Order: sequence, then C-alpha cells, then structure tokens
Amino acid sequence: MVSSTNPNFKQLRVAVIGGGLGGLSAAVALRRAGHLVEIYERRDFNVEVGASISCAANGTQWLREWEVDIPDMKPVILMKLVMRDWETGRILNQYNLDKYEEEWGNVYNMLHRQDMHATLLKTATSPEGKGTPCIVKIDHICETVDSEAGTVTFKNGVTIKADIIIGADGIRSVVRGQIGVVPDMKSAPQTCYRLNVKKSVVDELGLVKYSYEPAIQFWGGLQGKNGRSKYYKIVMSPCSDGEIVSFYCKYHSYIGNFYSFMPTELTKHHEEGFTFAEVPVSDVIAGRYDELDPDCVNLLKNSVDRMPWRLYVHQPYDRWFAGNTCILGDAAHPMMPHQSQGACQAIEDAAALGIIFSDKYNFTTDVTAGLAMYQTIRKPRATRVQSASARATENLNERIGFTSLTPHDASLAAAEGKLTINEMNSYKMHNHVATEVDKLGGGMGPTIAAM
Ligand SMILES: Cc1cc2nc3c(=O)[nH]c(=O)nc-3n(C[C@H](O)[C@H](O)[C@H](O)COP(=O)(O)OP(=O)(O)OC[C@H]3O[C@@H](n4cnc5c(N)ncnc54)[C@H](O)[C@@H]3O)c2cc1C
Repeated sequence: MVSSTNPNFKQLRVAVIGGGLGGLSAAVALRRAGHLVEIYERRDFNVEVGASISCAANGTQWLREWEVDIPDMKPVILMKLVMRDWETGRILNQYNLDKYEEEWGNVYNMLHRQDMHATLLKTATSPEGKGTPCIVKIDHICETVDSEAGTVTFKNGVTIKADIIIGADGIRSVVRGQIGVVPDMKSAPQTCYRLNVKKSVVDELGLVKYSYEPAIQFWGGLQGKNGRSKYYKIVMSPCSDGEIVSFYCKYHSYIGNFYSFMPTELTKHHEEGFTFAEVPVSDVIAGRYDELDPDCVNLLKNSVDRMPWRLYVHQPYDRWFAGNTCILGDAAHPMMPHQSQGACQAIEDAAALGIIFSDKYNFTTDVTAGLAMYQTIRKPRATRVQSASARATENLNERIGFTSLTPHDASLAAAEGKLTINEMNSYKMHNHVATEVDKLGGGMGPTIAAM
C-alpha cells in the first residue's frame, strides 16, 4: 500500500494493453503515481523497429518528471531544422535550436526508437525508482474488454480484472473497438520508407558532411516544379546506434536515419505498418526521385535496412473512454508523422493519467470521472496536433518550428490557427488539470489545503 496524505487516495490495479512507447509511458506515469501496473503485450519486444524518433521539449519534460534516465536512451540533441530545395539541396529555411533549452526548459532529443523503448521498459520494471515495479506479460493478445466489469480477455484464454484498463494497442487498436469507437480512416496518399546510412559509408564514399550535423534535414514536402507532387519528401536525422561519446552527435554505426516519402500510387508496398523485409533502393527512389538533390540520392543509394511503412489518415474519434477503459497514443489519435509528435502526444496522454490519478486529486475513488477528465484534458490538444500533422503532409511550412522562424512568423501562424513551437512547449498540464478540476466544484479536487 502506498502512503499518501490524501485519505481518499486508493491504489489502483492498472492493466495497460500494448507495450509500445505509449503503453510504457503510461505504465511509468501510473507507477510513479502509486499504482500497481501490469502491461500486456501481444508479442515479445525483439521486433521493435530501428528508426529514429524525435522527442521535443513537450515529451522530454515528462521523461524528466518521471526520472527516466534519458542519457541511457543515447540521445543526439538537435541543434537545427533545415529545409532544403528538392533539386539542389540549397537551404531554403533554417530554424535554429541553439536557444531551445534556454527558452523551453528542455532539449529536443533525437533518439533511436529501440533505445527509447528499452529505457522506458527498464524504468517501468526496475526495482529502483518510485513506485511498485510494473509487471510485463508478453504473448497476451487482447481480444475482448468489458469496460463495465473491468475485465480483459486474451487469445491465450487468460482473463484479468483491473480498476483501469488502458488501450495503448496502436493504430489498429482492439480496445478502441471494444469501447464502441468506429474509426473513420483511409489509406494516406503518401507512403513512407525508413532507411539508414552508416557513418563509415559516408566517410568511405566522401558523401556530404552535413550528414554529421545534429539537425533534421528536409527535402521536398511542398508542391514542386512542373507539378511535382507535394508528397515527395525526405527527412534525414542523425541517430545514435551503439556507443555515445558526447551528447552532441557522436553516433557510431549509423549516421543518418531517413524517412523517404512518395505518393502512394507509386509504391509497390501495400501492407499495413512496418514490413520487416528489406526492399531494393529502386523501390525507394521511384518516380520523381530522379530530380532529387544528387547528394541526397547518393546517400539513399548507399542506405541499408530499407523498409516500407504504410500510412493511414484517421479522423478524430468522438470519445476516448467508456466505463473504466480508455485509449491512449496511436489507439486514440493516430496521426501522420509530419509534426514528429505521435510519440510525444502519447507521452502527454500518459502524463495526464499520472496527474489525474495521483494523490493530488480524488479520482481514484471514481475512475470513470477520472477518465472523463483525461479526455477533457487531452482530446482537444491531441486533435489539434493530429490535424496540424495532416496539414504538414502537404506543406512543410506547417511544421512546428518552420511556423515559428521569427517571433513575427510565430504570431502570424498562431493567429491563423497553425501549431507553433510556443503552443507546444509553453503548455502547462498541471495547471490545466487544476483549472478543470476547479470547474467540478471541488468534488474531485484536493482534499488537503496544502496540496
Ligand atoms: C514514419 C514515422 C515517423 C515518426 N516519427 C516520430 C517522431 O519523430 N516523434 C514522435 O513523437 N513520433 C513519431 N512517430 C509516431 C510514433 O512512432 C507513434 O505515434 C508512437 O510510436 C505510438 O506509440 P503507441 O504506443 O501508441 O503505439 P505502438 O507503437 O503501435 O504500440 C502498440 C503496441 O501494442 C501492441 N498491441 C497491438 N495490438 C495488441 C493486442 N490486441 N493485444 C496486446 N498488445 C497489442 C503492439 O504489439 C505494440 O507493441 C512517427 C511515426 C511514423 C509512422
């Protein structure tokens, strides 16, 4: 039992369905809040995808609050976002991040997805750190959820009971269907390939040196010359793989992680999600890639681990919870990857659950009311990011950072309803929850004045 000065606080049994970045974040947040968490994952964790993931200040903030060992994730700290011309590679715009930490209180981390996952898993299950270590059960494929009875049944015949059930089971969420949400989704007009280029290859072939920069570099993503589709886009970022010598970009095996996008009608790959089979370079540089900056083509031609990633566009769902069950991360708000915010938004979802079900409030005595509060806090913000991600699919100028090149740009962008770096990074979730709880008239508010 946890000790708390709030006499109404109850330790809850939490079942997290899905052990991806969102599910593990929720597990850590709720462990820290004093609950007993079990994570149920359909497979083992050896198939985590080797791709980069950027964790902006709004995600990093919570990793720090939960005392996650961020250096263990081997971060590369990003110093700029660079927009390049598709054909020449000339720099069109640049957003400098050298004052980012000073301004927003946290750095902009570029991580390897596997490293991020491994550290979150370690944090969730470690005997060290605040709270009871979470328990992980693999080979548990969720089939049904009864959100009134609080039970989950798995394909292996096991049924469990929990006080809160969190569906963190990704874009094809079973839990979402079980709470009656029917997604309005369609195949995206754009398909993605993930690929890596090794540092040694860049050195051997004398390829472009900006590959070493701690920056995200973009080519395309805008309507191009002679009607070239806006769906062509390259996103290149440094990603550590193995040893790290310093925080700043001393990655060893891989230097560059690429996401290469093209119009879906040109792809040969129509399976959903990541396919774990390597594809030839010719599949990746099909169509108008013959017009792409030769330096960038050269990097792509010397890439390894080329894998397709089919994308889907989802409209916002009408609700995120029923009874004692909620959805989180890609299960709740799948988004196009063009704001690099999917995982950060999942982390924010987890943070909201951790705050709402902490001993600051009385929601542990009424889980459904707590989940209604979770939806109130998270759905509007995540929906804004979701729609801004869809807009950035067609126009790179909509990406957070490029909307805020100067303070003047940022205020114009904000006036037009675009997502700005200020909106993302100056948000104060603790205050937001306190304000919304106040509106309930004290029923769920702090019971002790000092809280
Ligand atoms: C190309 C690309 C680039 C991206 N880059 C970034 C970025 O730079 N920054 C960023 O913040 N985000 C980025 N994202 C988004 C980010 O990857 C996702 O939003 C995030 O990983 C979602 O995490 P999740 O835990 O919600 O879902 P998932 O990672 O899909 O995890 C779901 C988990 O649930 C398990 N599961 C599924 N069904 C069941 C079941 N029935 N029973 C039990 N377990 C089940 C799965 O095996 C999986 O482990 C990117 C996405 C793409 C496509």
